[in-house]
Amino acid sequence: MQTGPVVIIGAGPAGLTAAYVLSKAGVQSIVLEKDQTAGGIARTVNYKNYYFDIGGHRFFTKVKSVEDIWKEVLGEDLLRRNRLSRIYYNKKFFHYPLRPLNALLGLGIGNSILIFFSYLMAQLFPSKEEETFEQWVSNRFGKRLFKIFFKTYTEKVWGISCNEISAEWAGQRVKGLSLLTALKNAILKSQTHQKDKKKVIKTLIDEFDYPKFGPGMMWKAMVESIEKNGSHVCLGKAVEGIRWSGNKVEALEVKQNGQIELVYGTNFISSMPLREALQKFKPKVPKEVLDAANDLKYRDFLTVALIINKPMLFPDTWVYIHDPEVKVGRIQNFKNWSPFMVPDSNKTCLGLEYFCFEGDDLWNMPDEKLIELGKKDLEALGLVNKNDVEEGTVVRMPKAYPVYDSTYRKSLDVVRQFLEGIGNLQLVGRNGMHKYNNQDHSMLTAMLSAENILGANHDLWAVNVEQEYHEEMKIEPSEEAVLDKILPAVFSRMDPLGLGVAVGAVLGFIIFLATLWLATTGGPASAYLKLLNHYFFGYTVTMKGALIGLIYGFSWGFLLGWLIAYLRNFFIAYYIYRIRRKVELLTFRDFLDHF
Ligand SMILES: Cc1cc2nc3c(=O)[nH]c(=O)nc-3n(C[C@H](O)[C@H](O)[C@H](O)COP(=O)(O)OP(=O)(O)OC[C@H]3O[C@@H](n4cnc5c(N)ncnc54)[C@H](O)[C@@H]3O)c2cc1C
Repeated sequence: MQTGPVVIIGAGPAGLTAAYVLSKAGVQSIVLEKDQTAGGIARTVNYKNYYFDIGGHRFFTKVKSVEDIWKEVLGEDLLRRNRLSRIYYNKKFFHYPLRPLNALLGLGIGNSILIFFSYLMAQLFPSKEEETFEQWVSNRFGKRLFKIFFKTYTEKVWGISCNEISAEWAGQRVKGLSLLTALKNAILKSQTHQKDKKKVIKTLIDEFDYPKFGPGMMWKAMVESIEKNGSHVCLGKAVEGIRWSGNKVEALEVKQNGQIELVYGTNFISSMPLREALQKFKPKVPKEVLDAANDLKYRDFLTVALIINKPMLFPDTWVYIHDPEVKVGRIQNFKNWSPFMVPDSNKTCLGLEYFCFEGDDLWNMPDEKLIELGKKDLEALGLVNKNDVEEGTVVRMPKAYPVYDSTYRKSLDVVRQFLEGIGNLQLVGRNGMHKYNNQDHSMLTAMLSAENILGANHDLWAVNVEQEYHEEMKIEPSEEAVLDKILPAVFSRMDPLGLGVAVGAVLGFIIFLATLWLATTGGPASAYLKLLNHYFFGYTVTMKGALIGLIYGFSWGFLLGWLIAYLRNFFIAYYIYRIRRKVELLTFRDFLDHF
C-alpha cells in the first residue's frame, strides 16, 4: 500500500479528484499545475467580478460516487438549474431537440414541405453507403434538415467538412448500444407510465446542477480541502520532463520561474494531454510509441466574453448558432446558468465560443480584434446592438477536444501498450486518456486511480464514457434478469427449412395415417377425406392414395411452415430495425450537447 507522497500532474477535475480521494484516505499528494488557476478546462474565469466558464459546464451524472463528491464539496452551493438551449438560425429560435410545430413555424410552410419531401426521399431511397457523417444524418433526417440543423454547426466545431467526418463517429454511442439493451429499453419504456417516463428524461435533458459561482467554486473548495488534509496543490508548476527507467517513473522535472527542480514520488497520476506526456519522457520512448503519440490530435477553443448593457437578452442558458455567415458556434448566457455569475443584474455576460486550431488565424487574432468580431457577429445575428456591448475579454483554451479521427484508436493502443509496462504511472481524465470524457467520467477515472494506489485493481480504461447516454431509463435488476433470459429466446431467428420440414412431416403423416386407416376400415369419414382430391390431384382413399397424400401433405406443410418462419423472421427483423432507429433517434436527442 502507498504511504509516501503521490505526484499528480494537472489540477483539473481529474487531478484534484485523485488528490481529494487520497487525502481523505490519509495519503499525501502533490498536485503540479502549470497554470495559475485550478480547474483545467472546467475552470471559471473571474473578469471584474463577472464569472464565466470555458464553454459552460453542466454537472450531471449517473455515477453516484461522483455526485456524492459534488454534494459533499459544495453542499447548498450546488444549484439545480433548468436548461433551455435552442438553435438560432436565420434570426429565429428553434427548440432542440426539434419540436415539429416550432420547426414548422420557424422554417415557413414552403421550406417545411421541402424538408418533408427530402425526409421522405431519405426514407424511401437512403444512401446505400453510410460512411460519412453527412450520409449518416441525411439517411435519418433528409438532406435538407441535415443542411439546416447539423452541417454548419458540426463543421464549425471540428473545422472539417461533414464529408470527412466518419459515420462511425456519429453513430458511436448508438452502435455501442447492444440490441438486447435496446429491446429491453423499448419493452420497459412501453410499460412505463407516461408521467414517470417524462420525469426520467427530464432529469437528463432539461435539468442540471451548477455551482452558484460556476464550476471554479467546486475546484477552489476542493483545493482548500486537499490542503487542509496536508497535501499540496502547486500552481504555476509545469511538468517539463518525466524521468523514467525500466518499468517505472522516478521523478518529474518541474519548471517554475525558469528554474527546473525534481519532484520524486513512488506513484504518479497524469491528467496532462497524453501526446505531451509521451513527448516529455526522458530518456525518449521508442520511436513507434512517440510517432503514435504525435498522431493524437486536438481541437482548440476560445471564448470571447462580452458584457452587455441589457438586463435580459434571451432566456436560454446557451444557444447553438447554425448560421454559416458568422464564425461564432455557440453563445453562453451565464446569467441564466446562475444569477450570481453577474455582479450587476442590469447587465448580461455572454460567452461567444469559437472553435479553432492552435496557431490558426482565429487563434492568433489579437484580443481587441476578437472582441470586435464578437460584437460584429452578435449584431449580424440580430441578437445584440453593437453599441450595447460595454467591454470584453478573451480566454484561449488549447486542447479542448481530443479528436477521434480515423487513426486515433490505433495510435492510442500503441501508447497504452507501452504505458502498461510502467507500473507506477496511471493516466486519468479527458486529455490524459485522450477520451471524450465529461467532468464526471474524468473524475471517476481519477477516483479509481486513487483507489488503485490504496490497494484496488481497477481498469481505468473500462470506464465507459458513453454509458450514461444509453441509459435514459434505469432497468430494475430483477426485471433485467428476466428479460435477459426471455428476450434472446423470443427474438431469436426461426429456421424456415426446419419449420418447413417439421410442419410438412406432421401434415404428411396425418394425411397418410388417416388415409391408411380409412382405406382399411372404411366408414362414412372416408367420403369427406376423399374431397381432398379437389386439391391433391390423383389422391384417393386407398393405399396408393395414402402415399400420394403423404407427398402432398408434406409439400403443402413444408410451404406453410417455411412461410410462417419466413414471415415471423421478417416482422421480427422489421420490429428490431424500428427499435434500433427509435433508440438511435433517442440518443440523438442531445447530440449537439456532446460537442
Ligand atoms: C467547451 C466545453 C464544454 C464542456 N462542457 C461540459 C459540461 O457541460 N459538463 C461536463 O461534465 N463536462 C464538460 N466538458 C468537459 C470537461 O471540461 C472535462 O471533462 C474536464 O475538464 C476534464 O478534466 P481533466 O482534469 O481530465 O482535464 P483538464 O480540465 O484538461 O485538466 C488538465 C490540467 O492539466 C494541466 N496541465 C497540462 N499540462 C501540464 C503540465 N505539463 N504540467 C502541469 N500541468 C499541466 C492543465 O493546465 C489542466 O489544468 C466540456 C469541455 C469543453 C471543451
